[in-house]
Amino acid sequence: MSGIIKLGVVGDPIDHSLSPKIHKLFAERANIEIEYEAFNVVAANLNSFIKNFFDDGGRGLNVTLPHKIDCLNSVDEISPLVKKIGAANTLKRLEGSNQIFADSTDGAGLINGLLEARITPIKSDILIIGAGGAAQSIIHALQNSCPRVIAIANRTKGKVKPVVSRFPPLDHDDLFPNTQVVDIETYLNEWDYQGFHTVINATSAREDSNFIWCELLPIESATNFYDLSYSNLEEITPFIRWARQQGNSNTGKKISDGFGMLIHQAALSFEIWTGIKPDTTITKAELFDG
Ligand code: NAP
Repeated sequence: MSGIIKLGVVGDPIDHSLSPKIHKLFAERANIEIEYEAFNVVAANLNSFIKNFFDDGGRGLNVTLPHKIDCLNSVDEISPLVKKIGAANTLKRLEGSNQIFADSTDGAGLINGLLEARITPIKSDILIIGAGGAAQSIIHALQNSCPRVIAIANRTKGKVKPVVSRFPPLDHDDLFPNTQVVDIETYLNEWDYQGFHTVINATSAREDSNFIWCELLPIESATNFYDLSYSNLEEITPFIRWARQQGNSNTGKKISDGFGMLIHQAALSFEIWTGIKPDTTITKAELFDG
């Protein structure tokens, strides 16, 4: 591959994005030259920014909050996955044309992050807390990884039903039939439930919030916990702190923050743009030091 590949990420705010450092590491290890810049763009300028970026020779653009849905107004083609979830995080200029294509790597990134944390979705009961953009972008990938059921709980209950209705039961095969997505009330009242094998935090609740994590929900002593949020080296996220206090610590339960998902969704974007699967063995120390 010859020439510098022009890439970037667009969001608002964007100051704390780790994407430039991650992609620089991917490129160094893959021995290719890239330029990856972070762009702070307000919603009113998003469309013209995207057009100009690709007209000026850009090959690929990550899209982050709050533009994951609105960016679809600026593209020519979308993947079947984006059609399903209604949001994208990866834009690409199609080779040999000026057309812009949108895809999403969040869901597959989560699945790789879960597997890296040794959490297996197959045949499990999964709880997602949160019904915002991140929750919606992971449900399809989770449903495809053959759990028994995915239950959704959210602070604002009225937001759950519209999300659930976007994800009808998915038939796999005889071995893993009919994975359903339900609201938490349906799970508790109508299912012969097993208790959650895995609880995924997809909220943006932070330290200063008064959120009580899944109070009164069937958390088992062996329940695994995965937080989409991640912390730097010195800290832990509030959800991880709460998770460590649940049940018995000797059950082999897995607890992980979303650093793995962050790296894996980035790696999948990198592959979409360059055709290269990058080395994903990146540590927090490499990103948070300096
Ligand atoms: P979003 O669309 O703004 O949705 C936020 C969600 O959090 C909503 O369900 C909201 O509930 C809930 N929430 C916020 N504050 C809360 C509180 N104090 N108590 C209870 N619930 C609260 O945000 P998003 O895009 O889904 O992002 C969610 C999180 O995922 C963010 O922290 C983001 O950094 C993380 N994320 C990580 C990765 C990764 O690669 N690791 C990728 C994508 C996202 P209401 O509906 O009641 O407001």
